[in-house]
Amino acid sequence: MPAGSPADAVGQCFTCWWMRSTTTRRGSTFFRCARAETDARFVRYPTLPVRNCPGYEVAMLFVVLMHYTQPLDAVNAVRAEHLRHLEACAARGLIHAWARREPPTGGLFIATAPDRAALEAVVAEDPYVRAGVATPEIVEVPPQNVRGALRT
Ligand code: SF4
Repeated sequence: MPAGSPADAVGQCFTCWWMRSTTTRRGSTFFRCARAETDARFVRYPTLPVRNCPGYEVAMLFVVLMHYTQPLDAVNAVRAEHLRHLEACAARGLIHAWARREPPTGGLFIATAPDRAALEAVVAEDPYVRAGVATPEIVEVPPQNVRGALRT
């Protein structure tokens, strides 16, 4: 993947419904256009970044609900690490907002990702999940229901 933030480096493919990403064990990510399988106008691995693609369709928006599974003290023990993870994801353009619920039974965040698998990989790295203090619930928002600034 080219240098820079994913959104800049990949261009429209990053948030396109048709993009399928694969990350190798060494951390390299490849972006494949699934539209190329049925439409000769597109190539399987487009040159990045892609701009003004006629096949672009907005990708998935997700709401991720975190359900605490341990007492709050145990959750708070890794909260600083969790927040650093969210900040790092925000810097990558993956997560856009987050909050702890009140009463504090869990939290939530809003994310965009190329597909569910890409988001699941990010969520699996969350310190809450790794520490076993919270269980994630990923809710997909149908693209046709997205409005405003989140429709990127
Ligand atoms: S349709 Fe266009 S924007 Fe979407 S993945 Fe393929 S090349 Fe990228």
